[in-house]
Amino acid sequence: AVNLGLPSVRRPRRVSRQVMVGSVPVGGDAPVSVQSMTTTVTADVDATLRQIAELTAAGCQIVRVAVPSQDDADALPAIARSSQIPVVADIHFQPKYVFAAIDAGCAAVRVNPGNIKKFDDKVGEIARAAAGAGVPIRIGVNAGSLDPRLLARHGRATPEALVESALWECSLFEEHGFRDLKISVKHHDPRVTVAAYRLLAARCDYPLHLGVTEAGPLMQGTVKSAVAFGVLLDEGIGDTIRVSLSAPPVEEVKVGIGILESLGLRERRLEIVSCPSCGRAQVDVYTLTDRVTAALDGFPHPLRVAVMGCVVNGPGEAREADLGVAAGNGKGQIFVKGEVVKTVPESRIVETLVEEAMRLAEEQEEQ
Ligand code: SF4
Repeated sequence: AVNLGLPSVRRPRRVSRQVMVGSVPVGGDAPVSVQSMTTTVTADVDATLRQIAELTAAGCQIVRVAVPSQDDADALPAIARSSQIPVVADIHFQPKYVFAAIDAGCAAVRVNPGNIKKFDDKVGEIARAAAGAGVPIRIGVNAGSLDPRLLARHGRATPEALVESALWECSLFEEHGFRDLKISVKHHDPRVTVAAYRLLAARCDYPLHLGVTEAGPLMQGTVKSAVAFGVLLDEGIGDTIRVSLSAPPVEEVKVGIGILESLGLRERRLEIVSCPSCGRAQVDVYTLTDRVTAALDGFPHPLRVAVMGCVVNGPGEAREADLGVAAGNGKGQIFVKGEVVKTVPESRIVETLVEEAMRLAEEQEEQ
């Protein structure tokens, strides 16, 4: 965790086994990793690799690809070979694709026991193939595709039903001596998700992949995921996260990284401390904030930048920022470390902030 000089109230990290997803450790003392899933047709190797490259550039550490057909399975070797980050094959209905994914060099395989009908009698074979290749398996239980037997017994996808499904599936692998597993128990309701992962965390030592399934569009999905992951990670539960959004997967990665940064589990790069605007504002705060964010996106050093709509409260409210602007009267007061260093016309605010940011970065590099 990032040391913020704050008293630690977070519960200690849950003790879990560690599995290796290619080069990325998951569980144990490994940092919580961020993953996403491609939206391209997997069989379209070029498009899938292009999207994986975009995700990698955004900070994605593990990528999952869906394998619903033989054409997709056939594309896996090329994708696994050329991807910059470990590739997880997502298999729902066909155990034969699990073997194809392992042979293709995928770093892990995700199976959904509720969906693989003839799964039970294949477990031994899968366990042997995965163990031979050093490939971990994720048992991914989703509320929407829970085993019908469990659904009938519990009436609906309760936390207990989700956990029972996952642990039952794990036990089948354990019978074959295979414990290179990680688990997810996703529900669309963040409260059920939290309850399910708490239960699961207490009942096994496998690393946990956190997710709120079908979380919705960008705004709603972000809120749901932040609520569920915030609670769980603060309790020390969770080893890798995937934010599910009805939005381009790059957004999932940005939100996932933002959640980890907000929890102090990862050092924040660019933080924009912008005011909400009010009747005192002397500039269009929303537009200015968007322009400053875009201009400094990808800045390679930790940087907290304040964007304040007026000079009355601006610099005071943003004293802890590295640099910032307080707008007023068609001008911008530029301040660095709480001190006003210059005043520039409104049209030059963004470029001046970028110049000052570069100056700060040079100073940091010299230190
Ligand atoms: Fe209002 Fe100024 Fe505070 Fe922004 S900085 S919310 S404009 S008082």
